[in-house]
Amino acid sequence: MILNAFNLEGKIALVTGCNTGLGQGMALALAEAGCDIIGVNRAGSEETQTRIQALGRRFFPFQADLTDATRTAQIVTQAVAAAGKIDILVNNAGIIRREDALNFSEKDWDDVMNINSKTLFFLSQQVARQFIAQGQGGKIINIASMLSFQGGIRVPSYTASKSAVMGLTRLMANEWAQYGINVNAIAPGYMATNNTGQLRNDEARNEAILERIPAGRWGTPDDMKGPIVFLASPAADYVNGYTLAVDGGWLAR
Ligand code: NAP
Repeated sequence: MILNAFNLEGKIALVTGCNTGLGQGMALALAEAGCDIIGVNRAGSEETQTRIQALGRRFFPFQADLTDATRTAQIVTQAVAAAGKIDILVNNAGIIRREDALNFSEKDWDDVMNINSKTLFFLSQQVARQFIAQGQGGKIINIASMLSFQGGIRVPSYTASKSAVMGLTRLMANEWAQYGINVNAIAPGYMATNNTGQLRNDEARNEAILERIPAGRWGTPDDMKGPIVFLASPAADYVNGYTLAVDGGWLAR
């Protein structure tokens, strides 16, 4: 029966940046679908841990600053030692820096590129090696953005990094489909999280954004739940290299 294909019981999902926002929403969704969660966070993730354990699932917390891509091998080794295996990777952790392109600093370029695309690639590489060693395939879901499709304004490194995420999603899908590994991405639209606090507090920008969203509202972490469970599940076994917009219709305008 088709609904069984969405059941993730017995699966282990590694989710980066799951202490808040979209990462927390997706970790909870995967746990509701049956997964135990390996949470990789810069700081603590007690709230997520409590909520996942309340669902009767295990939560394995790991602390790492993902600006440093050299940590990825160690993260995967330690995660596998603790949880026994990995079946699903969600590359969610990401940052944004806002400044006019004319004044944009090299540090704001490097920090954003490092976490949003470099670490995303090298963590995927480490996890793909683990998937191949396990011999059961696996799912990688990258978190892209509207700025994977559009240019944006005042966010040059974010646009570069998220455009890279969509391209890398296709490249990794092309190379690893032969191992039963599905690599896809979700491009959230304008979602109410810490990441967009500045925009939502700017009355004029907030109004302009809302006016353009056909659904007429900001998205929420809960809006990620269906798409992440689908892409992490056998129901998406023949979906490869695709970036799914979850944007209330923003790109359709
Ligand atoms: P958020 O609330 O700011 O959460 C970002 C997450 O990434 C947090 O868990 C954060 O941890 C973690 N993180 C940041 N820097 C890190 C580092 N150096 N090492 C480890 N973890 C780090 O933002 P969000 O909106 O949920 O964003 C999640 C993802 O969705 C990001 O990739 C973002 O670009 C993408 N996205 C968001 C929107 C939106 O409208 N909100 C739209 C499109 C795409 P800390 O709490 O420790 O900082």
